[in-house]
Amino acid sequence: MSESSPDFYDLEELLEPEEIEIRDRVRAFCEKEVTPRINDYWERAEFPFELVPKLAELGIAGGTIEGYGCPGMSNVAAGLVAAEFARADGSVGTFNGVHSFLAMQSIAMLGDEEQRERWLPAMARMERIGAFGLTEPAHGSDAVGLETSARRDGDSYVLNGQKKWIGNGTIADHVIIWARGEDGAVGGYVVDKGTPGYEARVMTGKTALRAVWQAEITLHDVRVPAQNRLANCRSFKDVSLVLDRTRYTVAWRALGLATASYELALAHALRREQFGSPIAGYQLVQDKLARMLAEITAMQLMCWRLSKLADAGRMTAAMASLAKMNHAAKARAIVADARDILGGDGILVDHHVARHHADMEAVFTFEGTDSVQALIVGREITGLSAISGRRPERR
Ligand SMILES: Cc1cc2nc3c(=O)[nH]c(=O)nc-3n(C[C@H](O)[C@H](O)[C@H](O)COP(=O)(O)OP(=O)(O)OC[C@H]3O[C@@H](n4cnc5c(N)ncnc54)[C@H](O)[C@@H]3O)c2cc1C
Repeated sequence: MSESSPDFYDLEELLEPEEIEIRDRVRAFCEKEVTPRINDYWERAEFPFELVPKLAELGIAGGTIEGYGCPGMSNVAAGLVAAEFARADGSVGTFNGVHSFLAMQSIAMLGDEEQRERWLPAMARMERIGAFGLTEPAHGSDAVGLETSARRDGDSYVLNGQKKWIGNGTIADHVIIWARGEDGAVGGYVVDKGTPGYEARVMTGKTALRAVWQAEITLHDVRVPAQNRLANCRSFKDVSLVLDRTRYTVAWRALGLATASYELALAHALRREQFGSPIAGYQLVQDKLARMLAEITAMQLMCWRLSKLADAGRMTAAMASLAKMNHAAKARAIVADARDILGGDGILVDHHVARHHADMEAVFTFEGTDSVQALIVGREITGLSAISGRRPERR
């Protein structure tokens, strides 16, 4: 949505000046700091720690949260930021998504005033990093069935269980562990770095988002002060509220990956000559490029409207799911076409598309798979839930 990226319908006219400013700030940062060095980190499966202080200077941590040193940006601006990071690199986008949205939003939405004051300012400065521990080895799509337990013992809670796929779980200062209390209700418990019994191991062998780390976590009698239980989380429904509020940014991230792949494919097609002419001059290649642009333009419009609805407090869970489902599927097809247009170069990490192609697979799955999003939308439009099968309702 600017001169240097596909904006076929002049959607930039729909943006507020401060939204354009923040998008351009993130874009300039990514062009200078992320794109030139990320392939190397991705190939080595290393997290670019050197970027964290620079990300902090950008002043974007906390996204839409108001106060506590957070930028309080509009949902459109937050979406543009998410798309710009993804356009440069899915791993860096995921790091920010986990910290700014999943972790900080959990505290902002489900903590009380004292907890927000205690944790958010240092997280907004990125002096403290957050993580969001929901998924377990046996509970992914059905996270509602989570088995990690929290037992009250005097002034503490004692946590036991296992978590899997937890972004930033090995490096975070504050890990929000979602666990089931003795009354059966799910609560959020903030585990601070160094707490005995908390063991996190970086997951290896990933073929996507290689430059950001997810953790497998074991919690063995982890003692958390009672004041670290998020005060306003009463049940799993509250956790879902956080996920609903962050899911629309994943739709924007799919748009970012699709945009980058389209731009790279177009540039390559204009440069690469076969049979004596640029491949961009061949009808079949133009057909692919035109269809990619059509999907990207539709995705931009949906993203913008969804964020406007969020700004007005009218975005429902199913609205966010519809965009995540649609955009992840469309972006997945676009990055695959881009990979094809680059020929053999499409599987060389130096050309960037290979990385986007691989990273898109993770975006397709996390924060609710394609099928789960479809089931959320299906429940909304039919009034019938096909999600839970025969599993009894859990709190
Ligand atoms: C890179 C990455 C980062 C992540 N980061 C985090 C994080 O920071 N914190 C966190 O808590 N989690 C995180 N996750 C976990 C993520 O949210 C889960 O992977 C996701 O919810 C899917 O769960 P699963 O992998 O166990 O797949 P499963 O739930 O086992 O799904 C396998 C397949 O079954 C299908 N399926 C499941 N249920 C149904 C149904 N009712 N009807 C039809 N089909 C169904 C799914 O659509 C999918 O195709 C991350 C995952 C990845 C890959």
